[in-house]
Amino acid sequence: MSMHPSRAIHIEQFGGPEQLKLVHVQVGEPGPAEVRIRHHAVGLNFIDVYQRTGLYPNPLPLQLGMEGAGIVEAVGAEVQHLQAGDRVAYASNPPGSYCDLRVLPAKCVCRLPDAITFETGAAMMLKGLTAQYLLKRTLPQGGLNPGDFVLFHAAAGGVGLIACQWAKALGLRLIGTAGSDAKCELALAHGAEHAINYAKDDFLARVKEITAGKGVKVVYDSVGKDTWDKSLDCLAPFGLMASFGNASGPVAPFAPGILGPKGSVYVTRQTLFTHIATRESTQSMADDLFSVVMSGQVQIRIDQRYPLERVQQAHQALEARQTTGCTVLTL
Ligand code: NDP
Repeated sequence: MSMHPSRAIHIEQFGGPEQLKLVHVQVGEPGPAEVRIRHHAVGLNFIDVYQRTGLYPNPLPLQLGMEGAGIVEAVGAEVQHLQAGDRVAYASNPPGSYCDLRVLPAKCVCRLPDAITFETGAAMMLKGLTAQYLLKRTLPQGGLNPGDFVLFHAAAGGVGLIACQWAKALGLRLIGTAGSDAKCELALAHGAEHAINYAKDDFLARVKEITAGKGVKVVYDSVGKDTWDKSLDCLAPFGLMASFGNASGPVAPFAPGILGPKGSVYVTRQTLFTHIATRESTQSMADDLFSVVMSGQVQIRIDQRYPLERVQQAHQALEARQTTGCTVLTL
């Protein structure tokens, strides 16, 4: 089997950003259901932090990264929808996108429309498909209808700014939270109807005020530990708590009995990888994302770029809440 050299970022043990090490690896040929991709850009995600710290454990050593875009170099014999030379982008589980070259399951890889650059593709697949499933596949009783209020935490982040714009395109009234006034301005400029600086204002009181005491139909909560309790109290009766992350730490165990007095509310904890488990669902969600991006209704903001070898600084900035929008690793 011929081998191809690549740079890659590995961790050998769980820990801080200092665990991220640049190594040189050899990449082989794809298996029957796989493709080999030469990356042009790689996306950075908060989930990479959870995997680096071991909050989401994986076998070690681990090549991090779950999002990328580039050109297909080789395809396995069973792969029908791709061929060598195709421009592609993907969100993948298992991880491994922090590299020049990789082999991965073909089913998570989609052809990238010519109108979308590699950097945008690398920045938007995991985050954009997440916004897609949150807004369109994670629905409260009766679905979401134009005019409904939703609360979206960390609204100026990577997933957040995509969700603000997409929610507006759907006619939803999105209330965003963010950790500074500047981030709140950004959320407002991207379609949030209201923005609350939860570092200084009580978001529960503000949500009650904005909704005239009624509460919101859905809370999208990726912050976790710090926002969980008050988020439940922001819900209207029969509202849906859509928990999808733990940027401030994991949510403490709770007794389901608390949900009744809060208005018979629902709680769900979803992951993108259930939604994109099949080739068909991946493609249909990606087509929806490509179309909303190409229409201009959702713009993918890349506010930070780091060369692959500076990935430690990229992780530090993301964890220190210094980033807005998307971050890409350049090659
Ligand atoms: P972001 O760009 O949104 O970065 C995370 C943001 O969380 C920060 O910028 C910060 O915004 C906020 N935050 C709140 N408290 C903390 C804290 N204590 N430490 C660090 N950050 C904090 O990241 P992504 O767009 O990559 O992801 C957003 C969230 O969505 C993450 O939690 C991620 O894990 C989750 N996610 C879940 C998926 C799923 O399917 N379950 C898929 C994709 C993402 P601020 O300063 O404004 O508070």
